[in-house]
Amino acid sequence: MKIDKIWLSSPHLSGSEQKYVQAAFDSNWVAPLGPNVDGFELDLGNYINEPIFVGALSSGSAAIHLGLILLGVSKEDVVLVQTHTHNASVNPILYQGATPVFVDSEEQTWNLCPIALEQAIQASIQKGKKPKVIIAVHLYGMPYQIEVVRAIADKYQIPILEDSAEALGSSYKGQKCGTFGDIGVLSFNGNKIITTSGGGAIVTKTLALKEKAIFYATQARDAAPHYQHSEIGYNYRMSNICAGIGRGQMEVLDQHVALRRAMHDFYVDLFKDVPGVTVFSAPNTDYFSNYWLSTILIDPSKTNGINRETLRLALEAMNIESRPLWKPMHLQPVFEMHPYHGNKVAEKLFENGLCLPSGSNLTDSDRERIAMVIKSVFVDL
Ligand SMILES: *Cc1c(COP(=O)(O)O)cnc(C)c1O
Repeated sequence: MKIDKIWLSSPHLSGSEQKYVQAAFDSNWVAPLGPNVDGFELDLGNYINEPIFVGALSSGSAAIHLGLILLGVSKEDVVLVQTHTHNASVNPILYQGATPVFVDSEEQTWNLCPIALEQAIQASIQKGKKPKVIIAVHLYGMPYQIEVVRAIADKYQIPILEDSAEALGSSYKGQKCGTFGDIGVLSFNGNKIITTSGGGAIVTKTLALKEKAIFYATQARDAAPHYQHSEIGYNYRMSNICAGIGRGQMEVLDQHVALRRAMHDFYVDLFKDVPGVTVFSAPNTDYFSNYWLSTILIDPSKTNGINRETLRLALEAMNIESRPLWKPMHLQPVFEMHPYHGNKVAEKLFENGLCLPSGSNLTDSDRERIAMVIKSVFVDL
């Protein structure tokens, strides 16, 4: 008999999603827009609990794309983005015909390195093009260096598009992620901390900006009884069915955060006596990570040559999914022609880092199997 697969991060339903989805069926709101969309936006706004406005969309990628449009990015503009990220942080820059400039990470939060960021800004200005937007990411749920990055953005007067796709439920000094950028982005893809099966949201500071986002997300219809258009639009709105799933998920969001954080504690404990392995953890108590994924770095010079591939393959042999950290975007064939500023921190993270099973739905027996494999790999250390 084949043993069940343990996934890195899989959907975890609360049981009450169906109630909201059923209500959508009962009222024939099987469409984009509808009461669940309004309800989900309200739930998210209440959860984030800051003076912001939330627009539910078809994906986090759509939210990044609309964020760039709202911040005025168009053909031949320069957009700065951290290189250590998901390609969805970068693709929309190209959709707009703009040029990405990649910025390295720092070692504390694995997000935007302030030194490389400022170098990238100055280099762009020297070439006659001040960057139009900075895309800052809270990777694996860890907030970036909020104050330092904001100070640099303000110094050069460049807006921040905050990619909080992995960081719903994370906070910095008590303020929720998604609210630090000029515009914020959330994702509810199947592997995220909560899911709508597929979906995302844009977070804005004004109602007018939210309404502009919804305008673009619903085919840019002008006010007229017929279909009248004076701008290019998109079909990016969330459906009322997906939003129903989201409402059920909101009931368990804090529970999911607590369970993911418990998975992080589990790995901290498991690796505490293993030399050469560090579990990625918050630099201090200002940073509250949802630990969407628990991640480790392995230094093979301290582990008798055991590296992240040794561990990944051992886990795979026991049907346990793990994955290297993001491969830097400036090394991806599709993006490698674009400029990069940094000191190879992202390269080292990719070389030595591994994401471990982190789902809020893992069981004691899953944890036992994971621990058994990890202990067997590091048995001699
Ligand atoms: C998942 C993710 C996205 C994209 O969100 P989708 O909803 O999958 O389109 C963007 N940025 C980061 C960092 C992500 O992890």
